[in-house]
Amino acid sequence: MRPILRLPQDDGANGWAALLPPRVPRPALAGDVTAGWAVLGAGFTGLAAARRLAELRPDDSIVVVDALEVGAGASGRNSGFAIDHAHALSSGDAALETVRAQKRLFLAAIEHLGEMVERHGIRCDWRRDGKYHVAASARGAESVLRPLRAELEALGEEHRWLDADALAGEIGMRRYAAGIYTPGTVLLNPAALVRGLADALPEAVRLYENTPVTGLDLGSPAVLQTPAGRVSAPRLILATDAFTPALGFYPRQVLPFVAYASLTRPLSADEQAALGGRKSWGITPANGFVAATIRRTPDQRILFRETLAFRPRLRHGAGLLDSIRARHQARFRDYFPMLAGVALEHTWGGYLGLTRNQDSGFGCVKDNVWAAVGHQGVGITRGTIAGRLIAELAAGADTPLIADFRRIARPANNPPRPLLDIGIRVRSAWEAWKNRHEA
Ligand SMILES: Cc1cc2nc3c(=O)[nH]c(=O)nc-3n(C[C@H](O)[C@H](O)[C@H](O)COP(=O)(O)OP(=O)(O)OC[C@H]3O[C@@H](n4cnc5c(N)ncnc54)[C@H](O)[C@@H]3O)c2cc1C
Repeated sequence: MRPILRLPQDDGANGWAALLPPRVPRPALAGDVTAGWAVLGAGFTGLAAARRLAELRPDDSIVVVDALEVGAGASGRNSGFAIDHAHALSSGDAALETVRAQKRLFLAAIEHLGEMVERHGIRCDWRRDGKYHVAASARGAESVLRPLRAELEALGEEHRWLDADALAGEIGMRRYAAGIYTPGTVLLNPAALVRGLADALPEAVRLYENTPVTGLDLGSPAVLQTPAGRVSAPRLILATDAFTPALGFYPRQVLPFVAYASLTRPLSADEQAALGGRKSWGITPANGFVAATIRRTPDQRILFRETLAFRPRLRHGAGLLDSIRARHQARFRDYFPMLAGVALEHTWGGYLGLTRNQDSGFGCVKDNVWAAVGHQGVGITRGTIAGRLIAELAAGADTPLIADFRRIARPANNPPRPLLDIGIRVRSAWEAWKNRHEA
């Protein structure tokens, strides 16, 4: 039995969950159970995998296990952009074909999630608001937005270019030199969506929440050790994103990062008027390392997502959260001078799995073990579709979308630590300096 030492923990800080009515989690595992399939992780990826298995193998039993209550992990802590087009700034036909493949995958995910929201009446503020990709400087507009526009034109994608004045008219803020609006992204409350998906799981799926897997035996069957019982299953799917290296898989590819976000209180009517623009929108920055991702939510709060750091130990102390809140509050004032009196109500962090070349880990990783991990900060769509496709692959199906996913499933190797830490520090400092005009 391989012990798992780095386990997810809930600090209770997630602002999205705080906005929702209380929910009774499914009971933790108590005793030993056997099943046809075990899925480790109940975020967007694991829940999508379990549902797809139930569709493909209606007679099989499926167990899903998560260390936390559903919605307390990254799937419930993110900025709530179900992205339809993650720009890759391609060059050449092969790269453009990869962008097309990714687009097909993301659209399939949005279609699936939209269908779930409608069929099960999931109240998650699902809104097809689209998004603005914005640059703060003329240099950023030239180096990031113009190539993106060329890519969108080559793909025949609907989009609008906005200069500084036009953009300010739509979002109220006067900070940006230019932006590109694309209409396909859905904005939502991620904790509400992921909870809703868990509560609507098919009957064949048994979900155990608050059940950390503290040891793994990858024999046949695979055995998942938890504090009060074991799960034995001949087939196992890992849907553990940033925590995957802690299980012994993709240790040289998946890099655990932490990202932080804050939510303000709702804006008053006067504050809304002072801000101006549309009532609900989302922007992603030309450079996500130095600038903020921001949303105006339907209940008139501002979401502010900024600061991304490598955290291989998967830990961040409460003191650190205080200093992030202070930083976010100061940065918020700088971004929104017209909202000087608006305080942040919630600040939290969450772990996400990045890779050096932005590919995911996807496929069979050992005889009876499959993984769909490392979803690059776009896991609402990428994780959802990866989960569905890994279930298809494990159940023996072969579909065109699996071929599409394989195009973005060759994660690059990294050097071992501590070389890796030094490399990431140097690269982060270089990125911050090179893109300081976007900060
Ligand atoms: C602040 C922030 C903003 C983001 N913004 C966006 C956004 O706007 N749009 C977007 O698409 N993505 C965004 N992301 C990224 C997104 O949240 C992830 O890509 C997504 O959550 C990945 O889903 P997943 O199901 O693969 O992994 P996770 O959501 O991380 O789920 C993995 C689950 O595995 C469980 N687990 C791990 N190890 C164990 C163990 N040993 N025992 C039991 N359970 C275990 C964890 O508890 C967790 O619930 C953001 C992330 C953060 C942190």
